[in-house]
Amino acid sequence: MNKPTVPDDANLPAPGIADPAVVVPPQVFRLVVEQAALAISITDAHANILYANPTFERVTGYSRAEVIGHNESILSYRVTPKIVYETLWAQLKRQRPWNGLLVNRRKDGSRYLADLTITPVLDADGQTTHYLGMHRDVTEMHRLERQVQNHKALIESVVDAAQVAIVLLDENEHVLLDNQEYKKLIGDLGKEPAATLMAALRTQIGPGFDNARASRRGLSNREVLIEQPHRPPRWFSCSISWFEEQDVSADAFYEPARRHYLLLTIQDISELKRQQEAIRINALHALLAEQERIQGLREALAGAVYQLEGPLNMLEAAVKMLERRKESSGDEPLATVLDDAVRNGRETLETLRASIPYDAGELVQPVDLNTVLHDLLKLSTPALLAAGIVVDWQPAAKLPAIQGRPTQLSTLLKQLIDNAVEALYESRSGQRDMRVSTLDCGDHLEVVIEDSGPGVPEEWRYKVFEPFFTTKGADQHHLGMGLAIAQEIVARHGGTLDIDASYQPGCRMRVQLPCPRGEPS
Ligand code: FAD
Repeated sequence: MNKPTVPDDANLPAPGIADPAVVVPPQVFRLVVEQAALAISITDAHANILYANPTFERVTGYSRAEVIGHNESILSYRVTPKIVYETLWAQLKRQRPWNGLLVNRRKDGSRYLADLTITPVLDADGQTTHYLGMHRDVTEMHRLERQVQNHKALIESVVDAAQVAIVLLDENEHVLLDNQEYKKLIGDLGKEPAATLMAALRTQIGPGFDNARASRRGLSNREVLIEQPHRPPRWFSCSISWFEEQDVSADAFYEPARRHYLLLTIQDISELKRQQEAIRINALHALLAEQERIQGLREALAGAVYQLEGPLNMLEAAVKMLERRKESSGDEPLATVLDDAVRNGRETLETLRASIPYDAGELVQPVDLNTVLHDLLKLSTPALLAAGIVVDWQPAAKLPAIQGRPTQLSTLLKQLIDNAVEALYESRSGQRDMRVSTLDCGDHLEVVIEDSGPGVPEEWRYKVFEPFFTTKGADQHHLGMGLAIAQEIVARHGGTLDIDASYQPGCRMRVQLPCPRGEPS
């Protein structure tokens, strides 16, 4: 083994730092270059090849003998822009290494992408005497990168073209990616719509939201209402999918970690909801009008029966008197005539009773009292405006549906609203306020309708619920059956209807309807 030579120039390594030539014999450097997995070439100062290693031969397809003495441009495919070479040479002229990508051509004419680093080799005078070129074929890596970029661009354009708003959130629910429709929503809602909708979904779904997230169970088509001051309410149908991916950071190379994402798709269904509401309100209007007509008929006939009962009872008493007289004084022709009249009267009364429209049974089904009251208030808007009544509508944010008969419950609540409107209309006070609220009280739901009208005197607090009791005097339109029917509907639903005695001035009607709960899901 040759004894290592110690350089005698001024660039001696600092004391304490080993000279690599001393530690590693010079021929090892040659062997390293020969056996390196990188394509290595050494050129003169004009890029003419003086040396090429076996990997260079393997990558380019040229044998060492074929390239030595040739310029490195033998590898150029001539599609690399001129500016790239100009930059390369400008850098090398400043004696700085250059790194970049070049399209190279192999001996067989096939092309590959070379990730090339050229380093100027300086002599003791600081002159560039040689260049060291090292490159590797990165065609496959480039193909994969481009493929990923193409897929990303494709996904982005599809997502952007989608008619629904799509937003990708990270674990902290920060927006990572969104599409054009989502950007439009930002303009419309004035703030980060994802945060608003996620908060609304959390409130609506409750603990089920975290359960769904923990089990990565998607949520689909959840309808969310967003109310903004001085703007029409907006309805959105939201779907959530949770997914995860491998962490791509260097830290997670040997210790794989997962990142969690949430994809939220949002569809504006406000227009659909408005149309549905209009259809629902029209149907309710028709239903209530029909109910009112039947109810009117029922009340009129029941009233007639009730009115006829009195004279008939008197006639019956007279017949009984005449019959007693007949027993003592003999013949009494008037008794026979009157008896016939009473019998005819009773038959007529039965015919009248039979013609009272039958209250058709209605199926019990889930009823959302908030929706019923909302629709009734919408329906009453013209009457409320005409009477100059200001309505304060305070629905409970979350109100479970009760099991009930929808038409009957609508009739009941309509009756109470109409009573309040009428009381306010007749009120002499300038202030005409009405407050309608719902409350979830656990085992029952409460609907409260308050008005600032004249109120119900204490002595009539129970009487107003009796059939044919009216405070309006003899009036064809007020038969005094409204509250009696309302009371009956509430009773049929197992609830209570009362007037709050402590409420003054005005009237507070309180309906309590049972709402048995199942096991929480
Ligand atoms: P050229 O006529 O060679 O030159 C194009 C432009 O480059 C010229 O207009 C000029 O501005 C500049 N230029 C060229 N030579 C010099 C020079 N000696 N001094 C100053 N400016 C100069 N090219 C590849 O395509 N693939 C490779 O793998 C590759 N490996 C290289 C490895 C090393 C170590 C070195 C030093 C160069 C390498 N080159 C490589 C560059 C190559 O030498 C050519 O410059 C390039 O291929 C362009 O060749 P050309 O015939 O198209 O143009």
